[in-house]
Amino acid sequence: MHFDSVILHAAELLTLAGASHTPKLGTELAELGIIKDGAVAIQENRIAAVGTTREIEKLVKAGTRPKVIDATGKTVLPGFVDPHAHLAFAGTREKEFVQKIQGASYMEILEAGGGINVTVKATRKASRKTLVRLGQHTLNRMLRYGTTTVEGKSGYGLEPKHEYKQLLAIRDLNLIHPIDVVPTFMGAHVVPQKYKDRPEHYVKLVMEKMIPTVAKKGMAEFCDVFAEEGVFDINQSRRILNRAKEYDLIPKVHADEMTTLGGAELAAEVGAISADHLLKVSNQGIQALAKAQVVAVLLPATAFVLMEKEYAPARKLIDAGVPVALATDYNPNCMTESMQLILTLACLNMRMTPAEAIAAATINAAHAINRSHVVGSLEPNKQADILIIDTPNHAHIPYHFGINLVEKVIKNGKIAFSAQ
Ligand SMILES: [Zn+2]
Repeated sequence: MHFDSVILHAAELLTLAGASHTPKLGTELAELGIIKDGAVAIQENRIAAVGTTREIEKLVKAGTRPKVIDATGKTVLPGFVDPHAHLAFAGTREKEFVQKIQGASYMEILEAGGGINVTVKATRKASRKTLVRLGQHTLNRMLRYGTTTVEGKSGYGLEPKHEYKQLLAIRDLNLIHPIDVVPTFMGAHVVPQKYKDRPEHYVKLVMEKMIPTVAKKGMAEFCDVFAEEGVFDINQSRRILNRAKEYDLIPKVHADEMTTLGGAELAAEVGAISADHLLKVSNQGIQALAKAQVVAVLLPATAFVLMEKEYAPARKLIDAGVPVALATDYNPNCMTESMQLILTLACLNMRMTPAEAIAAATINAAHAINRSHVVGSLEPNKQADILIIDTPNHAHIPYHFGINLVEKVIKNGKIAFSAQ
């Protein structure tokens, strides 16, 4: 066979194979499909073959000379998929970081007109071009840290034209940057200041104006709602998500983050692709997610920056047969692009094993954004999105933390980042 390039001699090659159709559940989550002395062959932007170095070398057609990438002593795995990130916003909130340290809660900061409102103001002021420029910096950092596909949510415009501007900036980013960016409309991120005393008017604006426009213009694939006490209640969230479905936008829910509101049950009821956060999910909610096979996207960095003592009940979710994925929740309140950090937090604070965390950050994460047929594993015909990590085995990835272990990122078959 003719290959453009081959990666040879990986100490561990993690294929994550066999879960493109249905996500990894229960004990399967720890099965990474490891090949020792592993190799991957790439043709154009696709994976052509995966096996041991001997097997792949045998497949190389005599007389052809594919480019050889040596991975001796390294771990090779699929690019990270980050299925929950807020993108293309302006403004930072380091002031609030200090207030938080001094004891203010997220809700206290929000009610005092801080928090998300600060980002909304800055994002409304910024042009689409500025949002793209800022987003590019974010995506560059993500790529260097091994993310090759990311979800991007709007939700800092909170007015039709500014929500559209944010979504169009996300579209621009997908076109100009090597990372694939999957767009989510999140007009229902918070009730904007202007509608504080008449939230129902804002719900109507989202349902009657924004959702139809976003859908008709193909600006998003998903529609997300922050179902939370003091934000959108279950009934409002249900109405918004059902409207989204009428327009073929797939529902997602910010669910049971700060209170046990029933967001998980709602996600199951409306057939959401994912329910995210879930720090306060009830046992009933867990059962509902398992039954409906909604992906639980866990965001340990958010719990970390909110200085929560309790994280999402990852073990309970895994044991109940809920598909579990991990994401950064990159946003101005949770400033990290690093999926490597997320793995460490998932292991130490949610007691996921390194293998489980890696599966949750690759193939299961791909399921959470409907990309499991193209990315998330190293299998023939999938997009050649591949990481070479400078560690002798996969457990080192969360174990050796706080630095960037990525040596090379191959995106669509091409080297998109190299540490040397
Ligand atoms: Zn979020």
